[in-house]
Amino acid sequence: AAGLYFVATPIGTARDITLRALDILASADVIAAEDTRNTRKLMDIHGIALGDRQLVSYHDHNGEKVRPKLIAAIEAGKSVAYASDAGTPLVADPGYGLMRGAIEADVLVTSAPGPSAVLAALTVAGLPNDRFTFAGFVPNAKGARRAFLSGIAKSDGTMIVFESPKRIKAMLEDLSDIVEPERQIAVARELTKRFEEVLRGTVSEVQALAEGRTFKGEMVVMLDKAPVGSATDEDVDAALKDALAEHSV
Ligand code: SAM
Repeated sequence: AAGLYFVATPIGTARDITLRALDILASADVIAAEDTRNTRKLMDIHGIALGDRQLVSYHDHNGEKVRPKLIAAIEAGKSVAYASDAGTPLVADPGYGLMRGAIEADVLVTSAPGPSAVLAALTVAGLPNDRFTFAGFVPNAKGARRAFLSGIAKSDGTMIVFESPKRIKAMLEDLSDIVEPERQIAVARELTKRFEEVLRGTVSEVQALAEGRTFKGEMVVMLDKAPVGSATDEDVDAALKDALAEHSV
């Protein structure tokens, strides 16, 4: 049927794709992809021919130009499949503007759900999963990173963030100043790939596991919720200020 189909693709192992996702890639009138070569390769692996169908590049930099064409195609009765490079579209990946545009045009928007590094990581973290938050990529700049980490450290659920292996040690260093020594964390690396591993423990335990190693590939970092009743210096300052304000004459 005419509409916009968000297709989740593998995060490492090519066979991690649903049968329905393959059906959609095989039958969509137009295929839009963050990286057309990558999607082409995935289709080749699964024996899906492009034939005379259009394979369109769609990403953050050309979105504004390409979006109206894709929406017009849907309005003209075509089915458009959109796939990111890896994992679920829109999750720290392009596709938001396309989704908004399709909703505004009042056309069908649907998803072919599948892999995402967020849930794959949470599944093996060994941390509580009844309540969790995905907070995107950790900022690069030191000041912004520390502010970001202080913020997520106060969460009442497991926090999930993406971090580059180049900066993981600096991030752990910052975390060690910010969270209680007993706070549990997990670093999941290369999920579904050959060198998949999960480092679990307190920040200092994970730092010890990382000692002397240089990391490559892709990783997800997760942080257990703040202990119940924990208060940061800022919380204490704010409470003191409130109390003083109440009692002043
Ligand atoms: N939309 C994707 C998803 O749903 O999985 C996420 C895209 S984001 C641009 C890429 C980041 O996801 C990487 O930097 C890494 O943090 C994480 N990631 C992707 N694949 C991964 C894997 N196989 N193992 C660990 N982390 C992965």
